[in-house]
Amino acid sequence: MVGMFGGTFDPVHNAHLRVALDVVEAGDLERLHLIPCHVPPHRGDPDVTAEHRLAMLKRAAAGEPRFLVDDRELQRDGPSYTVDTLRSLHADAAGVHLVLVVGTDSFLSLPRWHQWRELVEWAHVVVLERPFAVGNMPSTLESWLQGRRAENWTELREAPAGRVLFQPVTPMAVSATDVRARMRAGRSPRYLLPDPVWDYIREHGLYGAGRQVG
Ligand code: ATP
Repeated sequence: MVGMFGGTFDPVHNAHLRVALDVVEAGDLERLHLIPCHVPPHRGDPDVTAEHRLAMLKRAAAGEPRFLVDDRELQRDGPSYTVDTLRSLHADAAGVHLVLVVGTDSFLSLPRWHQWRELVEWAHVVVLERPFAVGNMPSTLESWLQGRRAENWTELREAPAGRVLFQPVTPMAVSATDVRARMRAGRSPRYLLPDPVWDYIREHGLYGAGRQVG
């Protein structure tokens, strides 16, 4: 089984990496594709290009052989639709079961995703419990879940796609929003992200970094 973990990764932080490793271990995944999404320039920080987000992710993932940093969404123009990415992963590895990995907050927003009902034609969905992810389950999502919930990874192995598993992971209340806010305020984000990522941010003066001492 192969996983896909997409995100803005603006920047990648320790919770992304820890929960990614938790899911790799829990599901004994062959590999997990870490896929930065394309962000329209008007929404992202103009200092932090997709190339920077990708470079930080590569530094963060180096040394973990089951993580594969995958820039396929950055190669496509326009918005990144997960359903297209899953189709493309499926085309690359026919016969391999795919798992779409999302945090609780992303899962709750699923009904707003492009062609969201089609996602489970290509993959299982594994939801990682995220501390302080607030929000109610939309009723469309709740009814869609009926009959799809799996209790364990064996059930995911037995079907090619279409099941949803809630996976407990190491609870870490870290968010990229908080990491960016600390840097903008001139405070250190150290120990919330890997040192090589923090070094990269300072080398390139991203997120207003440069005034921090450590
Ligand atoms: P931002 O604060 O900018 O929204 P983020 O920290 O949520 O960023 P993303 O790149 O948007 O990071 O998230 C990528 C994926 O990682 C999403 O599915 C998200 O739910 C999940 N994720 C991020 N942080 C955590 C966490 N602390 N615990 C569990 N899942 C997380």
